[in-house]
Amino acid sequence: MNASFVQLAYLVATGLFVFSLHWMNDPKTARRGVGAGVLAMLIAVLATWAQPVVVHHLWIIVAIALGFAVGWPLSQVPLTAVPQRTALSHAFGGLAAGLVGTAKFYLWYREGPENLTAFVMIAIIAEIILGYLTFTGSLMAAGKLQEVKWIPQRPVTYPGQNLMNIGLLVIALAVGVALIVNPTASWAPAVFPVIIGLALLFGVLLIIPIGGADMPTVIAILNAYAGLSAVAMGFVLDNKLLITAGALDGSSGLILSIIMCKAMNRSFTNVLFGAFGQVQQQKAGAEAQVYKPETPESAAQIMEQASLVVIIPGYGMAVAQAQHKIRELYDLLKKRHIDVKFAIHPVAGRMPGHMNVLLAEAEIPYTDLVEMDDINGDMPQCDVALVVGANDVVNPAARYDQSSPIYGMPIIDADKARTIFAIKRSKNPGFAGIDNELYFSEKTWMLFGDAKKVIGDLVKNLSDGSGMH
Ligand code: NDP
Repeated sequence: MNASFVQLAYLVATGLFVFSLHWMNDPKTARRGVGAGVLAMLIAVLATWAQPVVVHHLWIIVAIALGFAVGWPLSQVPLTAVPQRTALSHAFGGLAAGLVGTAKFYLWYREGPENLTAFVMIAIIAEIILGYLTFTGSLMAAGKLQEVKWIPQRPVTYPGQNLMNIGLLVIALAVGVALIVNPTASWAPAVFPVIIGLALLFGVLLIIPIGGADMPTVIAILNAYAGLSAVAMGFVLDNKLLITAGALDGSSGLILSIIMCKAMNRSFTNVLFGAFGQVQQQKAGAEAQVYKPETPESAAQIMEQASLVVIIPGYGMAVAQAQHKIRELYDLLKKRHIDVKFAIHPVAGRMPGHMNVLLAEAEIPYTDLVEMDDINGDMPQCDVALVVGANDVVNPAARYDQSSPIYGMPIIDADKARTIFAIKRSKNPGFAGIDNELYFSEKTWMLFGDAKKVIGDLVKNLSDGSGMH
């Protein structure tokens, strides 16, 4: 294919990638965004494949077949497993960048050392450090989220840990500098794997002290690393599309992690080094907390008398896949002229937009999904707050308890509602590993059980007309 035609195809693909990200900003255009991303990737692969330098077509076909074999099952995972699925994608991206950098170094060392200029060497070192650390870091993150048995969920910390991690990175960088200065030295091929080993180890050690609750944020940060390693790979291969696509990937990962940190009122350093989610010591002198269980029947009766019901979904709604039952409840309440709103916390669930996606799947109108900042003002007028599998995002301790790991995280003011019904299966804490005093409030009634089942019971009671006047 003509070289300028390839560049034109790359330009079109870049434009589509940009539009793809833009369209993802709104649920109404998100599907179009996904389509644009798929089309851009297709154009990118075909235009690259059509270049005259590509001669081993069979290898490309084998690689595409392997990609499908891995990608297809990955596309079938449930929505609750999307964060770890995303981490696996980053692991593959990082590994690909690392392997390309490694192959290019050894190829050029033997058959074209003049290519190993200082600029190319800087790009190769950046590519392999970022690529390999993203690989092991993302695998660890995926393992923690998937609750793989031999990977501890809680942060593992020891004295001098940060010093050791930073020390490792500094050694890898120092060896990298030595290689940048002497890329063709006789010892270079033997020393190159040292950087690979250190980067692989660094990826593991970086994730060990971080708790499961912070993994989605860490995955967004690893996304940024994978994007940066793709940018470096673009410089190594002199491929402009890799540079632009990698930069988009890197910056969107960074922006996403900033949004998540802001929504949790945390800093990057706190996420990476804060060991969030360690088992909390029971506070001395803490009084025995009492839950007040209630039946769906009585809850339905109270709900029927409400003017405003605010449903606050959380991770438990995703686990139970309760969104369709919630839609039925929404319809029944609306039929009774009760105003129903959904309060959406930016980090409810396990990824940004998690609740929006599930509720959109159940075709709940976007206009009734209200962001945290907009709904909180209405909470004192709310007759019933129905908390569906949400925990940390409605924990009032975040407002005042400086010793709480979620201190400072903005929350949905469920506690300000007149009556609160909270659905969860047990007395277990939420993801941050702490108790929630909302459940012990005198205004709160617990509806213990799986969210889909409990909402189903509420629906049944409402449709039976029990409690109707
Ligand atoms: P939490 O993880 O705090 O709580 C979820 C609750 O759902 C649990 O208490 C659990 O209780 C309950 N639950 C689980 N399964 C079911 C079920 N089948 N039926 C009914 N209840 C169920 O979730 P939140 O959404 O409140 O908070 C999200 C957490 O994730 C926050 O700590 C946030 O910081 C963190 N996080 C979120 C990110 C995001 O982007 N969304 C990113 C990074 C972190 P039980 O086991 O008793 O049923």
